[in-house]
Amino acid sequence: MQSAVLVEHLSKSYGSLQALKDVSLDIKEGEFFGLLGPNGAGKTTLISILAGLCRPDSGRAFIMGTNVQTNFIEARRLLGVVPQELVFDPFFTVRETLRFQSGYFGIRNNDDWIDEIMTHLDLTSKANSNMRSLSGGMKRRVLVAQALVHRPPVIVLDEPTAGVDVELRQSLWKFISRLNQDGHTILLTTHYLEEAEYLCGRIAMLKSGQVVALDTTQNLLARYGSHKAQAGQEVDLEDVFIQIMAGE
Ligand code: ATP
Repeated sequence: MQSAVLVEHLSKSYGSLQALKDVSLDIKEGEFFGLLGPNGAGKTTLISILAGLCRPDSGRAFIMGTNVQTNFIEARRLLGVVPQELVFDPFFTVRETLRFQSGYFGIRNNDDWIDEIMTHLDLTSKANSNMRSLSGGMKRRVLVAQALVHRPPVIVLDEPTAGVDVELRQSLWKFISRLNQDGHTILLTTHYLEEAEYLCGRIAMLKSGQVVALDTTQNLLARYGSHKAQAGQEVDLEDVFIQIMAGE
């Protein structure tokens, strides 16, 4: 099966701080993949390299076989990124924001698709509201919508549910799962381990810029949870994460 995201021996330093150390990953088309790690582990740096926002010191990265550095424009078209931070022009309406984003990818007359995305994200009633008038949760929905306007096959979500309420979290989970069922490859970073356990088929854990675990969610739970399972206790990804980060 084709690699949707292929990362080969990526390293990146900021001054004396090595944010990524020889990271390699091969995420196949159609996977729902989780990238986990504590604050500062290097997740956003890796995503920034995939999005062409940051240059690695060494190594290569490909989106659907396209090199993110040597063929930046094509690679960017194949990728939808939902960033961590909420940055918008406050004077645009939701619809204008999404039209503007379509224009950024050279797409005109995209309203049918914009309407469909807004329907799925429960944004239709806010289509003509100015961005500055939206709540944080609504703004986050617009971030997701923005990442989808050009129908990318690969979607990267950098902590999409940080600070959102339970209802929105669950509706985002449903929506992202649907995108995955429709064939999109998903790369998700999150600090909510319950979210990763529920959604991700395979998980990589980063610690201080290095991959310290890479396996299916099921295998990780089975391998690190055997003590608890033998004692008849329920095993969750948080137990696994704590053990791996402690180097056990
Ligand atoms: P979080 O979970 O907090 O979002 P993260 O896993 O996404 O963390 P990164 O944001 O990739 O981690 O940061 C990795 C390391 O690189 C951190 O120590 C961070 O302080 C550092 N770093 C990131 N960006 C820069 C930058 N532009 N200049 C200097 N240091 C940076």
